[in-house]
Amino acid sequence: MSFDELYQSILMDHYRNPRNAGPLSGATCSVHDHNPLCGDDITVHMKITGGNIAHLSFEGKGCAISIASASMMTEQLTGKTVATARTEIDDFLAVMRGESEFSSHPEFEELASLEGVRKLHARVKCATLAWNAAKKMLSEVDG
Ligand code: ZN
Repeated sequence: MSFDELYQSILMDHYRNPRNAGPLSGATCSVHDHNPLCGDDITVHMKITGGNIAHLSFEGKGCAISIASASMMTEQLTGKTVATARTEIDDFLAVMRGESEFSSHPEFEELASLEGVRKLHARVKCATLAWNAAKKMLSEVDG
């Protein structure tokens, strides 16, 4: 299996079986965002306790890239401190803008499957939709 095929299969697995999809009982904050260019429409829910992201979920609809990226984001950020999550979100957004490389961020693991999306400028918004929602959310909490 080539890297491209491997990346494609990771993306499609997260699209077909999204992790942490659905409402979140006891959520301390929720942010809705949409991408009119593609029709992606996602709400991210977060439960923050003691400065940690205890639970993270998302719901909505969208293309494979937006759903897979949201699914991977929930796995990436759950259990992280608010401060670490802010850093990882900014690092991920910088990579997607082409200002940094996935190879410099081994912590992103499966997210590197979005490598090919960086070249498709219209789709970068799909891949960053849930992340921008989480960024907005974390800008409004203490810690
Ligand atoms: Zn999309």
